[in-house]
Amino acid sequence: MNQEKVATTQSYSIGDPRTNLPALPCYPCPHNASCCAYGVSLSDAEAAAIEADFGPGLVYRTRWGEFRTRIRQKRCVLFRDGGCTIHDKPYYPAVCGGFPWTDAETGGRYEYDVTICGEFVARSELLQLQRAIPSGKSFVRSA
Ligand code: SF4
Repeated sequence: MNQEKVATTQSYSIGDPRTNLPALPCYPCPHNASCCAYGVSLSDAEAAAIEADFGPGLVYRTRWGEFRTRIRQKRCVLFRDGGCTIHDKPYYPAVCGGFPWTDAETGGRYEYDVTICGEFVARSELLQLQRAIPSGKSFVRSA
């Protein structure tokens, strides 16, 4: 998930807390990209694009059918030389793009553990900002 995150590429209405989220120091990350230690969930298209560019072996399908990136030496296999090798690709995982602020699927607040981002551990005020983002569960999504 490394590289700068501003989370303002989507447009939100004035007053929505997502419009004023601070940038995180993602590149170079002072926390050794702690968020990249777990791998990430991928859409089928993202997994296929990674395999098309990098060959087999970097992504796998879990028992419950979800694609994820593999972990090697305690970091996502796509994290190399201090950065994410696919950050500028069109198939950069949507989950990484939203983390740690928003959930790629719902568009609302990222509901899982945001303290895997070391900056959230160092600056507790970020937790308050993140918790002010509306929950995705509260959105009525149109088809
Ligand atoms: S740990 Fe936090 S600051 Fe570092 S790359 Fe990940 S999201 Fe950015």
